[in-house]
Amino acid sequence: MSTFDLTIVATDKVFFQGPAEFIVFPGLDGEHGVLPQHETMVAAVQAGELRYTADGKKQIVVVGDGFVEILGDRVTLICDFAERAEDIDVMRAQRAKERAEERLKARRSEIEYIRSQAALARAMARLKVSSKIRKNL
Ligand code: ATP
Repeated sequence: MSTFDLTIVATDKVFFQGPAEFIVFPGLDGEHGVLPQHETMVAAVQAGELRYTADGKKQIVVVGDGFVEILGDRVTLICDFAERAEDIDVMRAQRAKERAEERLKARRSEIEYIRSQAALARAMARLKVSSKIRKNL
């Protein structure tokens, strides 16, 4: 099967590097699928579910905001965080969601509001992906 070189880099680690057959990433206007020989493209990535197939195995990952560059046979995705769906700590994400909601209600300052919205989006993305894989187990 034909492949492209996929690199997924999070703030704290190189999450994945190697040949991949397919990737679907969460874009600003929904999911985008990429196969080998995709046209050149740069796009924003929004916190959510990312799926890719490497070595015939499907992987489900939750990623944070970032961007992706598709250039020739290379796909490079850079994001705030990347976690395998099965590694998501649901209780931690639930607590992060509740904290963010409390801070949003408090409406302290505009910057605090924007930070809380981003924290809420990260927590919601983690909860959504982990609940989806639990339902499919
Ligand atoms: P928290 O307030 O719980 O730290 P956060 O959204 O602020 O959540 P991040 O700054 O996005 O956390 O991530 C910091 C590190 O912790 C990253 O390595 C990320 O992968 C990891 N992480 C954060 N939340 C979870 C979670 N619920 N399950 C697994 N790993 C997590």
